[in-house]
Amino acid sequence: MSKQLVLDARSITKRFEDGRLNVQVLHGVDLQVHAGETLAIVGASGSGKSTLLHLLGGLDAPSQGSVHLMGQPLHTLSPKRQGELRNQHLGFIYQFHHLLPEFSAQDNVAMPLRIRRDPKAQALAQAARMLEAVGLKERMEHRPAELSGGERQRVAIARALVAQPACVLADEPTGNLDRSTADSVFALMLQLARNHGTAFVMVTHDESLAAKCDRVVRLVQGRLA
Ligand code: ADP
Ligand code: MG
Repeated sequence: MSKQLVLDARSITKRFEDGRLNVQVLHGVDLQVHAGETLAIVGASGSGKSTLLHLLGGLDAPSQGSVHLMGQPLHTLSPKRQGELRNQHLGFIYQFHHLLPEFSAQDNVAMPLRIRRDPKAQALAQAARMLEAVGLKERMEHRPAELSGGERQRVAIARALVAQPACVLADEPTGNLDRSTADSVFALMLQLARNHGTAFVMVTHDESLAAKCDRVVRLVQGRLA
């Protein structure tokens, strides 16, 4: 039985045109992500990894080609419908955690659920369960500044997963961590992917971490090699 397609990018190109600028960053990329799969995107700095991730997540539109998320054509939907689809099916993790500094870990993790208007008590309870799953049961009341770098990324992982997305898109999620912390945060993401059946697409320039994923694709000057 073939697994459900979560993301389906077909022949996508991306060109940045803006007055004096005209650079083509992606040249006809095809990429499919299946349910529960862990996929690493590797490549040199400037090869287009972040650009590709933005297009997969609907944060930017391709110049040509299409991206389907759960069978729906992301870039031809209205911005409102696109936002709903993204909130329902995707989670995002960045190199720098992007947590809200004034809020506790628990409130940060509850935020995606509050945004979709889940009742507060329910959102907080679900955030607590997710923080427990990433090993931060004892840190729920801490604000980001009161956490270590690895703990902050664990909070960001919990936030990305709390609404049970089909796929998490992570841009160098361990790029800002020391070796052993990066290893343990990466291992945690792979374990959560398996436990929750969530697909993970991770951009990394760390080949040893990439090799732990189900599949590795390599971007070379905007083409998948
Ligand atoms: P990577 O994440 O692999 O390091 P990026 O996707 O960030 O690479 O960038 C790939 C190329 O696209 C770079 O040469 C960069 O200068 C260019 N680029 C990225 N974003 C923009 C933009 N908004 N406008 C113009 N050029 C961009
Ligand atoms: Mg990048």
